[in-house]
Amino acid sequence: MAGARRLTGRFDVARGERFMEPGKQNGDIYRRLGVRRRINAAGTLTRLGGARMAPPVIAAMAAAADAAIDMAELQVAASGRIAAATGAEAGLVTTGAAAGLALAAAACLTGWNVQRMASLPDTSGFPNQILLPRLHRTGYSRCLAISGARLVDIGHNDRGSGAGVRGLEEWEIEAAIGPGTAAFAFSATPDNVEELLLAVSVCRPRGIPVIVDAAAQLPPRENLRRFIACGADLVVFSGGKAIGGPQASGILAGRRHLVGAALVQQIDMDVSPATWDPPELIDRAAMRGLPHHGFGRGFKAGKEEIAGLLVALELFVEADAQQIEQALERRLLAMADALKDCKGVYPKLLSAAQTGRVPLLELGIDPARAGLDAPALSRRLQKAEPPVHLSERLAARGRLIVDPQALAPDEDMLLVAAVRRCLPGS
Ligand SMILES: *Cc1c(COP(=O)(O)O)cnc(C)c1O
Repeated sequence: MAGARRLTGRFDVARGERFMEPGKQNGDIYRRLGVRRRINAAGTLTRLGGARMAPPVIAAMAAAADAAIDMAELQVAASGRIAAATGAEAGLVTTGAAAGLALAAAACLTGWNVQRMASLPDTSGFPNQILLPRLHRTGYSRCLAISGARLVDIGHNDRGSGAGVRGLEEWEIEAAIGPGTAAFAFSATPDNVEELLLAVSVCRPRGIPVIVDAAAQLPPRENLRRFIACGADLVVFSGGKAIGGPQASGILAGRRHLVGAALVQQIDMDVSPATWDPPELIDRAAMRGLPHHGFGRGFKAGKEEIAGLLVALELFVEADAQQIEQALERRLLAMADALKDCKGVYPKLLSAAQTGRVPLLELGIDPARAGLDAPALSRRLQKAEPPVHLSERLAARGRLIVDPQALAPDEDMLLVAAVRRCLPGS
């Protein structure tokens, strides 16, 4: 580290100084590291650091850090709170929704079978197929497959491709289920709950667990309970998106025996058989012996993430959603107003009711009048000082989106100023 700038002030480890106020010693850690702060109006994107955490969440993580606790006991406490928030039988804090999908798949592959736990990701010799409707194939689907499960694409992509009106049908699921089926996977969207009910109605009587990826389906807060209420067996949510928890956190909620099987494959299992005393969520009697470190060991959630996530979840559940929505809409309207005289830029507010999630400000870019197209404007904004990120989801169709979820109020007008500076005419 010769020549590198020190990251801490004077801090005497040997003297055992403790309980520093978070942030005090380190000042602006990013400045010290030489990493620029960015204005994020692209949403709670992982590559931009995820959610901005509220002070009580930051405080909980700091308070959790300086202690020794039993991690299984902490996860059981988390389970109770996740169950209360979701209506599920049990829950687990994971290192993100992606890890939640991998652990969900592992739990469905093994149940309490220790031999199967020991063999993952090798799944030869036992049911290992996860049925995945083609409409639900996403970049995250492979997180299920890293458990060793084999993804079996089923159904048609008519709605996704715009080729037709039909979605997933009962007979398509029925026909795909066989002796090798271990689970059924589903990606939730704001408008496919009917399809989930259909999948549950086919899978449940046949004993096939349904795993729902609801990573980014919050808000609305009601979705914490919706998919479980529809009969899903396991549901995953990101902790570092709308919940506002640590970036590397997530929730796996669902049936008690599956969550228990996921937990035992996630926690440290270098335990002494004579003294190991697992919490009830881990059904020791159902296991023939003690599993070793499980497939999920690489996804271990830290005590700081668990504490932070639980506080964030409580704040998210208690928040006045309508008030937050209205405040976001007011801010977006003020930005729209401040941009309305920009040539070739057409701001349009999309309400939460229209998006099914949070309000957004769409900026239509007319290249003929603005002097550049949406991707070019986005590129310039990202090179601005400070760099500004807008959502590029519709950039190819000439639209950039201001997503306010990770945008601080004092950044709104900095964003507007950056857009004005990046337009060629100004
Ligand atoms: C963000 C996301 C994930 C991954 O979530 P992490 O919490 O970042 O692991 C998985 N699925 C979908 C649909 C997502 O949007």
